[in-house]
Amino acid sequence: MVDIIKLLPDHVANQIAAGEVVQRPASVVKELLENSIDAGAQNIKLIVKDAGKTLVQIIDDGKGMSDTDARMSFERHATSKITNADDLFNLTTKGFRGEALASIAAVAHVDLKTRPEGSDVGTHIMVEGSKVIEQSPCATPKGTSLAVKNLFFNIPARRNFLKSNNVEMRHIIDEFQRVALAHPDIGMQLYHNDGELFHLATGNLKQRIIGIFGGKTNEKLVPVDEETDIVKIGGYVVKPEFSKKTRGEQFFFVNDRFIKSAYLNHAVSAAFEGLLPDRARASYFLYLDVDPGSIDINIHPTKTEIKFDDEHALYAMLRSTVKHSLGQFNIAPVLDFERDQTLDTPYNYKDKFAAVPKIQVDRTFNPFDNVAPPKKGAQRPDYEKPDTQGWEQLYEGLRKELPQGEESKVTYESEQVTGSLFQGKGATSRNELGTSFAKTDATTYQLQNKYIVTTIKSGMVVVHQHRAHQRVLYEELLKNITLASSVSQQLLFPLALSYTPSELALLTQLKEGLENTGFVFGAVKDDALEVTGIPTALTEAEVPIIIEQLLSDLENEVPDVGFSQTDALAKSMAKSMAVKSGEPLDATSREHLVNSLFACKEPTVSPGHRTTFVTISSDELERKFQ
Ligand code: ADP
Ligand code: MG
Repeated sequence: MVDIIKLLPDHVANQIAAGEVVQRPASVVKELLENSIDAGAQNIKLIVKDAGKTLVQIIDDGKGMSDTDARMSFERHATSKITNADDLFNLTTKGFRGEALASIAAVAHVDLKTRPEGSDVGTHIMVEGSKVIEQSPCATPKGTSLAVKNLFFNIPARRNFLKSNNVEMRHIIDEFQRVALAHPDIGMQLYHNDGELFHLATGNLKQRIIGIFGGKTNEKLVPVDEETDIVKIGGYVVKPEFSKKTRGEQFFFVNDRFIKSAYLNHAVSAAFEGLLPDRARASYFLYLDVDPGSIDINIHPTKTEIKFDDEHALYAMLRSTVKHSLGQFNIAPVLDFERDQTLDTPYNYKDKFAAVPKIQVDRTFNPFDNVAPPKKGAQRPDYEKPDTQGWEQLYEGLRKELPQGEESKVTYESEQVTGSLFQGKGATSRNELGTSFAKTDATTYQLQNKYIVTTIKSGMVVVHQHRAHQRVLYEELLKNITLASSVSQQLLFPLALSYTPSELALLTQLKEGLENTGFVFGAVKDDALEVTGIPTALTEAEVPIIIEQLLSDLENEVPDVGFSQTDALAKSMAKSMAVKSGEPLDATSREHLVNSLFACKEPTVSPGHRTTFVTISSDELERKFQ
């Protein structure tokens, strides 16, 4: 038989191997940043064009390379960082595999200029798809400049696989932030298409966090500091009241290397237990320093996971340290910081004045007047129960104040209901969806503050209020955005909302769509976006929440243009503007919602494709009662 096994040519092997290291432009950014840091750079400038698809360039003032090293650096397994296998267990550098540059050079056009200190001339090397096409002396500042152009030029399938510029840029910003947070002592800049996204001066950790996430972050941080035999823990956690529902800044660094660890994240979350509102996530910037010999960073190709010798002990320590910090800085549980009360007001109350409850207060009452002397060792003094007779009177004023029609939701399931359950009285029937819906004056009821029950000719219908409202708002928003037909209310005092540079970049992309819904934006000053007008359907208090939701919904996938962007915007806004389950609705709002739902183009499902209502026919009911 003929022999068929052959060694792959180098450039093919390199291309295959590159797949592991270089998945997208952000992987290049990560490798280059790490190399600059390993080279002892004090200042690093990152220049990106077209989200890295056209160019990723890094300029550092590190130690540079000799001409031989410069040439060697593109060979596979060429590294200055380890010399034998034992070094693997004592890593102090970011890189150690010696394959980043070889991999990058296999799938891009690379232009390297480098000069070590003490050398008069530098070296210029150009590599295209693993082939060195030029090597010559050149004049260049001390340090290294490495430009990676036309990534995946020779692997079209991979290039096509890249996501939109927004998504790829998001990944690049993530990598940049991770490295920047690990090294506040290094000055770092990021440019995208000639615009400066970050300009981070050297400073301490707090200054770096603020530099990245904006000035308002300062008041949100609680320091964490603990040192034990096996680990030193430092950094900051974000006060619970500033936690975010859907998204948080969660950063772990182990020996200055960003890592992901669901296990350690759990430890921090456990420390926050009881302090966070529902579904909110703790935000943190935590730095663990451990003996490099006690970890194995070799288990994951992109190196964001680490194996610890004693993860269990680390968990316990982390949890108690964070808990201690939260306690020490007086972070008492805040009961209702989660939502702004104004949002809970049902629509018909919005413009009404609150009635002053008629409650008599005995200002001279002192619960301790009758206190028996504390028993020895008792935790709390027992005191005599106050006289509770006649307590009902306290509520008298309140009851009479109930607006007309409000009793109906209290008396649901009572006798009154049965009379009108099966016919909408005098209703104009409409033939929608095969059900003839009795419009307008059919009585509506609210069930569990979640469903609206009403009648149709053929039986009854149960509407999911939150989903139904989402559908109504979604179609309205879509129309407004597309036709740019919405009205806005001018704010007397413009809002200034703080965002991180990357969030601002995202909002800029969405600006046009948002303006079509009724937002009017002023200037961006420092890290604050000025909002001068808002859609008429919104209150000022809702605006930050809606934008926050928008940012988190679209964080990773802003469609570039056109319909899908409009669609995503409308979906997200409808979600946050819709009445929630649990909100009581008065008769007018209920009726209005049901009517608007059935006037929708696609009333049966929410924008997220969930069922908005179910019908139960008279026949079905009949059968149940047989
Ligand atoms: P690794 O970082 O794992 O050693 P790389 O392929 O990333 O492998 O880099 C190969 C070598 O090139 C490094 O070990 C280092 O000696 C040199 N090098 C890479 N980038 C720089 C830089 N910015 N400044 C100085 N030397 C560098
Ligand atoms: Mg490297």
